[in-house]
Amino acid sequence: MTPRRLQPGKLVLASHNAGKLREFGGLLAPHGMELVSAGALGLPEPEETGDTFIANATLKAMAAMRATGLPALADDSGIEVAALGGQPGVRTADWTMRPDGTRDYPSAMARIARLDTSADRRCAFVAVLVLAWPDGHAESFEGRVEGHWVAPPRGENGFGYDPMFVPEGETLTFGEMTRDEKARHSHRARAFAKLKTACLQGSARDVASPPS
Ligand code: IMP
Repeated sequence: MTPRRLQPGKLVLASHNAGKLREFGGLLAPHGMELVSAGALGLPEPEETGDTFIANATLKAMAAMRATGLPALADDSGIEVAALGGQPGVRTADWTMRPDGTRDYPSAMARIARLDTSADRRCAFVAVLVLAWPDGHAESFEGRVEGHWVAPPRGENGFGYDPMFVPEGETLTFGEMTRDEKARHSHRARAFAKLKTACLQGSARDVASPPS
């Protein structure tokens, strides 16, 4: 299939998560895309009824594309804890939810940290990105980073479960890294690198830029 190139212009980020939006802003900045978030457009957050990252990313991207008529990018992501058989995985966001609908990340991280400290501490972050074009065509890209969890959580940067995750080969948590340092390892940046190769390289701005 001929790869589709995303031309510079408006792109809807099908997310209301401020942390994801900041990271995508940084990743897309060199590509001449004008990012508009689903939140800023007042789009509702679709219910994540899928059992897989790709199913949920697809339903979020398609909903934003249909509501706006613009290309839309969605991310569904989560943390897979080895000692929990890969949970919470696709349910990672649910673990943070209070009964009143607000999010409680310290409690969600404490739930993982309650595992016996001698236990296997391996875990991984996973992100699946789906890019949906206005004609209904969609493509997906997966990124994964292996690492281990620490308790207590460390660092004020990033978002979500970042303060408890140390990527393989590093000593700092994502919460202690700058955004650029996190982007050298992160599941989201790895998935985005695949999207970039498939859909962004060759765009007008990219051809004009020196190779990085
Ligand atoms: P969803 O993709 O909206 O279903 O939610 C993803 C869940 O995983 C949220 O609770 C996020 O905080 C968490 N998550 C995803 N990516 C990251 C990350 O890069 N750092 C920390 N937490 C993350």
